[in-house]
Amino acid sequence: MAVGVLALQGSFNEHISALVRLGVKGVEIRKPEQLESVSSLIIPGGESTTMAKLAEYHNMFPALREFVKMGKPVWGTCAGLIFLADKAVGQKLGGQELVGGLDCTVNRNYFGSQIQSFEAELAVPKIVSQEGGPETFRGVFIRAPAVLEVGPGVEVLAEYPVPSANVLYSSSGVQIQEENAVPEKKVIVAVKQGNILGTAFHPELTGDTRWHTYFLKMANETGSSTLVPAVEANAA
Ligand code: GLN
Repeated sequence: MAVGVLALQGSFNEHISALVRLGVKGVEIRKPEQLESVSSLIIPGGESTTMAKLAEYHNMFPALREFVKMGKPVWGTCAGLIFLADKAVGQKLGGQELVGGLDCTVNRNYFGSQIQSFEAELAVPKIVSQEGGPETFRGVFIRAPAVLEVGPGVEVLAEYPVPSANVLYSSSGVQIQEENAVPEKKVIVAVKQGNILGTAFHPELTGDTRWHTYFLKMANETGSSTLVPAVEANAA
């Protein structure tokens, strides 16, 4: 079976390209019945209110919840992470429907609006690291959420050290000035709970495919059938 990518809105094409780079076919999912043809699913970043409205319009929520409950591997990036959280706070215009399943609370726009988007080098978690690969990855945070609280079954994979107000950083992330330093605060930006992976950043917008490789490993370990190679699937 192939990997499904929820294709209602957001960066689904970029995820499909990352999968192709790894030789795996990504299938665009827009209707509930299409979920039956895939054994794992990526929910991309985008705008979670819009995505939720489209998901509601296409009656996707019951099928998505069932998919998660069945223990099939699901990875949410950014808006996708918000979708998978049991609770989201920080919505400006009221609530939105969530798929849920991930025992955590997220703040939808923890880091602020579009102009507060940023990139940062973060430590690669052990389970994602590859032999000989760099020890850090480039985290791309676009109107990014953060995880505020996690339940006991949730593993924290990555944290971002929020610079304190008195510390200045250059655009390359190097600390250039520190006055009356207040200890920096770490916020959770990647989590895993069983079959669910959630990242506040966008690995699909970088050339680094290690997060996708890790998700494919999750998919292969859990899935009853093997993943379809991109070439074979395209030829079909
Ligand atoms: N904060 C956005 C939201 O609420 C998500 C941003 C993203 O996916 N890049 O949907």
